Amino acid sequence: MFNLTVKKLSQIMTTKQILTQLVSFPVLGGDSNLSILEWIKEYLDNHGVSYTLVPNEEGTKASLHARIGPAVDGGVILSGHMDVVPVAGQEWSTDPFVLTEKSDSKLYARGSCDMKGFLACCLANIANMKAANLKKPIYLAFSYDEEIGCLAAPELAAHIKSTYQEKPAYAIIGEPSMMQCTVGQKGIVIYKTTVNGSAGHSSRIRQEVSAIHVVAKLIVWLEQKMDKLIADGHIDDRFTPPHTSIHCGILEQSGIAPNVIADYSSFQWDVRVIPKDKASDIRADFTAYCSTLEEEYQKRFPDFKIVTEEVHSDVPALDGDENGELAKTVLSLIDNKQVNAVSYAAEAGQFAEADFEAIICGPGDIAQAHRANEFISIEQLDLGTKFISDLIDHLSD
Ligand SMILES: [Zn+2]
Repeated sequence: MFNLTVKKLSQIMTTKQILTQLVSFPVLGGDSNLSILEWIKEYLDNHGVSYTLVPNEEGTKASLHARIGPAVDGGVILSGHMDVVPVAGQEWSTDPFVLTEKSDSKLYARGSCDMKGFLACCLANIANMKAANLKKPIYLAFSYDEEIGCLAAPELAAHIKSTYQEKPAYAIIGEPSMMQCTVGQKGIVIYKTTVNGSAGHSSRIRQEVSAIHVVAKLIVWLEQKMDKLIADGHIDDRFTPPHTSIHCGILEQSGIAPNVIADYSSFQWDVRVIPKDKASDIRADFTAYCSTLEEEYQKRFPDFKIVTEEVHSDVPALDGDENGELAKTVLSLIDNKQVNAVSYAAEAGQFAEADFEAIICGPGDIAQAHRANEFISIEQLDLGTKFISDLIDHLSD
């Protein structure tokens, strides 16, 4: 059914029509994305655009990249993710996987804003890209599993570097930013820490090692570490809050009774770093503190152990240059002349780490993302479409 739709409309699909198709694929982060990918492939086939897939090991998911324009250095990558967050437990007033326009000139659906709206803006401009006399190439880079930790972007960025002989210079990540030029992004990493203590009668609290008591110390240490970073001047006023945040969000079930010392406890915590801080440094300090506790408690219980593992890999912060070539170009093409920084994690930091000058700029408001009744306004969608079209003109003259 979708194939037919693509063929019939390949030359005339509007951004809204494309978005209607894209949101109909309920591909959640972690799921196979082959269904939405198939539709995009078909769409590109019908425009005569060849592409390269970057599959996962099992072949159940794949990123896609494509070049339109000449094989010369200095091109621009347009990047977005194909997956969305779940809708379970949210109260939607419309079907989240059917794009629904309401009288408020907003288009409702999961992913309308984050971030299939941007993908639709790019795809609606494919015919323009093909027709234009591009002096610099435009690349599409569509990833999967962004919503569960930006998992696919590093491989996608590396694959782009190794596939093309020329070197793309820039990457625009179309996360919702109300079409504002966003040059900074916090990084994130999520850890799980497990403590193995020794069980016993609660009266023996000084002979055994309570895993719960140790976990309490570790969480207090993390909070104090955050305070210390602030006190030491690790501040970046572009962000809200203007410092690295360290937070424990899950305390896993530990203990079996009030009068039994718990031999096991674990918790999960995240670190959202400003560009000048590194999560790995914080983890190293944390590990050093854990070692001192291990030394102390192993005297009581030789098998006492604290283990910390990464739940989500490290997504680096973005520290873009607001006076750089890319920011200057983007600012010349959009109305809002103010540069911005965001506290959410996105793939921009990963593209920057792969040596592309990267920024975030896309339609829709991040406040809409991940919520029930997510929407993108038609105005934002139009601005996004116009932005890509203006970029094409810019790269053509
Ligand atoms: Zn997103």
